[in-house]
Amino acid sequence: MIKIGVPKETYPGETRVALIPANVPNFKKMGAEIIVESGAGEKAGYPDSEYLEKGAQIVKSREEVFSNADVILQVRALGANPVEGKKDIALLKNGQILIGFMEPFLAKDLIEEVAQKGVISFALELLPRTSRAQSMDVLSSMATISGYKAVLIAASYLPKMFPMLTTAAGTILPANVFVIGAGVAGLQAIATARRLGAVVRAYDIRPATKQEVESLGAKFVELGLESQEAEDKRGYAKDMGEEFYRRQREMLTKVVAESDVVISTASVPGKKAPVLITEEMVKGMKPGSVIVDLSAERGGNCELTKPGEIVEKYGVKIIGPVNVPATVPYHASQMYSKNITNFCSLLIKNGEININLNDDILSSTLLTKDGKLTNSIFD
Ligand code: NAD
Repeated sequence: MIKIGVPKETYPGETRVALIPANVPNFKKMGAEIIVESGAGEKAGYPDSEYLEKGAQIVKSREEVFSNADVILQVRALGANPVEGKKDIALLKNGQILIGFMEPFLAKDLIEEVAQKGVISFALELLPRTSRAQSMDVLSSMATISGYKAVLIAASYLPKMFPMLTTAAGTILPANVFVIGAGVAGLQAIATARRLGAVVRAYDIRPATKQEVESLGAKFVELGLESQEAEDKRGYAKDMGEEFYRRQREMLTKVVAESDVVISTASVPGKKAPVLITEEMVKGMKPGSVIVDLSAERGGNCELTKPGEIVEKYGVKIIGPVNVPATVPYHASQMYSKNITNFCSLLIKNGEININLNDDILSSTLLTKDGKLTNSIFD
């Protein structure tokens, strides 16, 4: 039987687990058994006893997981775990399969080391955003959680309420929320802010987002800069260059100044996030306003953002949360686990591993095989 290993996550502050007990039986059906490091699911709310109940084996040490498993499932592997990820290289074996987030754009050195060990690695960040890959799309799952949580963070720091209320003590006006970047996180932020009763506006450079923004009851802010040109063939935004961003900032200034809350999510894969909110623009906001910069880990959409910190300037709080999905570990793990299980079902059939590189989902995520870097992102 093929053995699938689930080690504890070692990145500081990481609370998620790559596989939850509910998905253990899915692997049984594929002809695989699960080995879990004791305590791996604890922080996410999944105790060892639940894994055992579903038929997984619990082992005491990380070494036991790596030495026995044919396939290792992680949330943050290699470059996605810049603190501890390197240590796992010593534990990996020739021919072993490694699946997880790996930050492939930033961690080429580590990935080269893994290639040299003969490990077959798949980076889930590189999943194509196609309908067939949707059930495996970990980026969308985690972005959904981040978009939701960003609104709750903003609401808890704003000295105002979100909904409009008519009370005996007078009328409370609704908060004005502006969402920059209407991808998966942005759309979830819009929906969450609307559920709390805010008046929501949103902006994206991809014109296709206008309809999605409006279908959630928000107003799309048109700057006249949105263009089909801004979208690459995979649906991602392109890097538009500093002159474009300068014009964009100029035109965003008024909307930012009118907003109580700005949630920014703009990002370009493999690049530093564009700076769309300058210090000057922050200065123009009302005291008490809040910016939640979900791009903090990618350098930030606001010039004043510091990852993992709350910066207060001109009476405005600029919040740069990091690893937001780990603050909702139960559901983040549930979604991640379902996604990775669906991904594994392409690799494992009737108790055998078959890497079919004619499948675009496998070929686009494969980073290393036969001692080499195999992905076109390294060309
Ligand atoms: P992302 O996290 O890469 O970026 C977030 C958003 O920021 C994007 O909408 C992007 O257009 C926007 N952005 C970038 N630069 C900007 C700028 N200068 N100003 C304003 N906005 C800017 O995006 P994502 O959420 O991962 O989505 C990427 C693409 O994948 C989208 O086209 C999305 O619709 C698509 N998608 C498809 C599927 C599917 O079909 N299975 C699933 C999820 C996402």
